[in-house]
Amino acid sequence: MFLTSPRLRAVLLAATSAGLIAAAVPAPEPLGIGDPLFPHLGNPGYDVLAYDIALTYGGDNRKALDALTTIDARTTGRLERVNLDFAHGTVESVTVDGRPADFAGVEEDLVVELGRPVDAGTRISIAVTHTSDPAADAEGGWVRTSDGLAMANQADAAHRVFPCNDHPADKARFTFRVTAPKDLVAVANGHAVDHVVTGSTATWTYRGAHPMATELAQVSIGRSAVVRRTGPHGLPLRDVVPVADRERMEPWLRKTPGHLRWMEDRVGRYPFETYGVLVADATTGFELETQTLSLFERGLFTRTDLPEWYIESIMVHELAHHWFGNSVTPRAWSDLWINEGHATWYEALYAQETGQAPLERRMRDAYAASDQWRAAGGPPAAPHPSAPGDKSGLFRPVVYDGSALVLYALRQEIGAAAFDELQRRWVTEYAHATAGTADFVRLASDTAGRDLTGFLRGWLYGEKTPPMPGHPDWRGKAPSNGKPA
Ligand SMILES: [Zn+2]
Repeated sequence: MFLTSPRLRAVLLAATSAGLIAAAVPAPEPLGIGDPLFPHLGNPGYDVLAYDIALTYGGDNRKALDALTTIDARTTGRLERVNLDFAHGTVESVTVDGRPADFAGVEEDLVVELGRPVDAGTRISIAVTHTSDPAADAEGGWVRTSDGLAMANQADAAHRVFPCNDHPADKARFTFRVTAPKDLVAVANGHAVDHVVTGSTATWTYRGAHPMATELAQVSIGRSAVVRRTGPHGLPLRDVVPVADRERMEPWLRKTPGHLRWMEDRVGRYPFETYGVLVADATTGFELETQTLSLFERGLFTRTDLPEWYIESIMVHELAHHWFGNSVTPRAWSDLWINEGHATWYEALYAQETGQAPLERRMRDAYAASDQWRAAGGPPAAPHPSAPGDKSGLFRPVVYDGSALVLYALRQEIGAAAFDELQRRWVTEYAHATAGTADFVRLASDTAGRDLTGFLRGWLYGEKTPPMPGHPDWRGKAPSNGKPA
């Protein structure tokens, strides 16, 4: 071929490449990173480094907040578009590196066109102007309280609050900037870095010192008192409670330094820059280990039918998650047993030491029920997906006491000294990182000085619970047709 002029050549090239794009670029579609339990959660091709999330709250928790979420990411593959997870808000505009970008909502993904192919290893900044709607809270995300809002994103609801790569395998730094009427108080994960009053509103800025999974984000807005004290080694503690409950909550709040010392004696230094209890006047039916500021229902502390040691053991459960689940985050949601098994383990140990709840009895009872739990929910490290619409369905007995039972079996098998060393090594070697079941098996084997793959396979993946080392007399109840027990 002979081209007669550069101009014609340019025209021909443009025509060719336009044709190629039209033929080669498929319609936007929802993507995921292949989590066995949440196939559309997370997205391939990039790693989020930082989120900067600005939220403007007008004072009515039934109305959508205005928001600007800025995502700094590094591409890990060649990309022409970026899938974010996002639902329950309206997207007004998107920019990429400051330039307006096309976007489309497809199921629970927000697909952003980069405008040009971007090579792996490129830093990109995506800014999404959107709303965030707490009225659609039935599926998690925003929790409406009597005086404002709190957040509960676990497992897959962060993207119902802000656009994100909504999977714990992609941890990132977070900054929250919350603007609200100045007579309210806004608190988020990490330390306060700024507080500016402008007329009738105020803007609070918080930043976390460590990477965080999207499921652990927390923003509390309400008529709150912020209560400060000091924990072990000068750790700043910060509790957030309804103003009217300040005195009533104090007997519970002042227990935290002791809980911290108790956990540190067992697994080592607390891994974050601050800790505290967020008491929300809402009926959630759960407590949640949101990073540096665990969410508790007010009702847990005001009911009178529970012994004190039991309520404290739940406080210890959420605190223990800061080592197991928050600092060391799961690679896939099927690794949830590591989070909940360990949190339940320390909850049960604390209950044994402070209440009339021997660990061995609790584990014997768990052993009796374990086959039924496995039949109903799957084995600890391969749980069945939850039914559509059943958002907390993953949080079932097999990942709590059924998984603490796996740890008990491991301790019986390798001895208390090796088990304690494994606990400390796990939270040290994977601190502020992501780790999964295979990593745990490998570290357990390394710590015990022998291959535990075969031993743990049955405990983690077996349909039937293996015999308990040291307790040959323990028996399980037969599953009842696989129906939940
Ligand atoms: Zn838990």
